[in-house]
Amino acid sequence: MPEGPEIRRVADRLADVLVERPLTSVWFRFPHLQARIEAHAPERVESVRAWGKALLIEFDDARTLYAHNQLYGRWFVRRAGNRPNTGRELRVILETGRHAALLYSASDIALLEPGAWREHPFLGKLGPDVFAAETTPAFLRKRLRSPRFRRRALGGLLMDQRFLAGLGNYLRSEILFTAGVHPDLRADDLDDATLARLTRQIRSLAQRAYRTGGETAPKAWVRQRAALGLPRRACRQLVFERDDEPCAACGTLVRRMDYAGRRLYFCPRCQPAAEAEHA
Ligand SMILES: [Zn+2]
Repeated sequence: MPEGPEIRRVADRLADVLVERPLTSVWFRFPHLQARIEAHAPERVESVRAWGKALLIEFDDARTLYAHNQLYGRWFVRRAGNRPNTGRELRVILETGRHAALLYSASDIALLEPGAWREHPFLGKLGPDVFAAETTPAFLRKRLRSPRFRRRALGGLLMDQRFLAGLGNYLRSEILFTAGVHPDLRADDLDDATLARLTRQIRSLAQRAYRTGGETAPKAWVRQRAALGLPRRACRQLVFERDDEPCAACGTLVRRMDYAGRRLYFCPRCQPAAEAEHA
């Protein structure tokens, strides 16, 4: 599933072609949404933004199109009137005189009246977006130390969209590795310096993945591995999908385990469990 950084890049692309341009066509595959659009069609898109893995397109009439792509949904941008060559089912069309933004396959789509996100079953419970201005390292430290989250194992907590929206599977592994934190540890187990390191890595790795389109490893590492002739995908992360390869920092073999139902990769030496750390 695409994570926050990838969804944010999609939002940027849609904003480029939609914002403040007169809409010539708005169409929804689902009849209950289409009926509402036919009753009253918006004229313009005011903004496009990502909130975690959800995409929010705000219209000039203050209604908001909510779409969560989950595993299947995909946005395409084409010249107006053009359609991609795909076997997917078209679900939404937003067209201007020049471009068409086309959503395929997604089923989690809603048209929200102003303020209605609070009652929305997903958005209403969603934590702050990892890229939001208020999501500073200080804010994250406070949130991690709060009674609600301080006793949750970080391997699970970092994937919990109610804690923080936008982190997913590869970011979780990369953040815990670069912070030197074992996934079983909880905020309660970390001293202030380690907690500060963790919160800095959450922000900086998410930002880096956004800028680079999914890279979390430092540039030198990416170049070094690319020079070995490894496929591009195998050069972009430090531990994610690197099981049984030597850790970039210490040479110990990276291990894979299942955590909160998803694959997690870590270095047993750089990320000691609590017992080893205090031994
Ligand atoms: Zn290591």
